[in-house]
Amino acid sequence: MLGFFYFDPLYFLFLIPGMLLAGWAQMRVRSAYDRGKRQMASSGLTGAQTAQRILDMQGIHNVRVAREPNFLGDHYDPRHKVLKLSPDVYDGRTISAVGIAAHEVGHAIQDARRYSPLVIRNGMVPLASTGSSLSVIFIFAGLLISSLQFLAVVGLALFALTVIFQLVNLPVEFDASKRARAVLVDGGIIAPHEDPLVAKVLNAAALTYVAATLVAILQLAYFAIRVMGSRE
Ligand SMILES: [Zn+2]
Repeated sequence: MLGFFYFDPLYFLFLIPGMLLAGWAQMRVRSAYDRGKRQMASSGLTGAQTAQRILDMQGIHNVRVAREPNFLGDHYDPRHKVLKLSPDVYDGRTISAVGIAAHEVGHAIQDARRYSPLVIRNGMVPLASTGSSLSVIFIFAGLLISSLQFLAVVGLALFALTVIFQLVNLPVEFDASKRARAVLVDGGIIAPHEDPLVAKVLNAAALTYVAATLVAILQLAYFAIRVMGSRE
């Protein structure tokens, strides 16, 4: 029984397509970011200045732009109304920096306009984060110890919840990028000829979310087969 921890051909069958896809998405992101990093934005604004200007244009005055020390730690914190930008994005004047900053402002705009997928997503955060840490432990414990079989089912339900969370998150991410590109062009911050590269950077970032979600769905399918197969 312990064997499946070390080698289960079924697990690899489920995981390999997902891992290949995730690896490919990561490569696409890297190459898009690198291209976007080599091109300076014609506005001359930094990511932080871009974010502030969009917030002003949208009439959002209760959101603060702050520096986030973690590289790639860019995010919008709806609870504290803070837009956190990593050093590269905060101070950068490249297409990548401006595009990522605008994407994060896209989330602040969603929050200000009470965009419903974001409201649902934020409501799911506590459940989903508990679920993701406990689900796999529960599943393995339930599979290994037959008297704890029910735990595997609970774990499976928790895991399914995290997959639903990721699915709800996808439209939120695509919408934030759509809003970002629209305000950048409409506000004259990005020239029309720069928009395709902004799109490339933001689409590549969205692709990593899609890949991660597909990996999670494949894992869920695998766990479901294991848990259902173990029940007598
Ligand atoms: Zn986002």
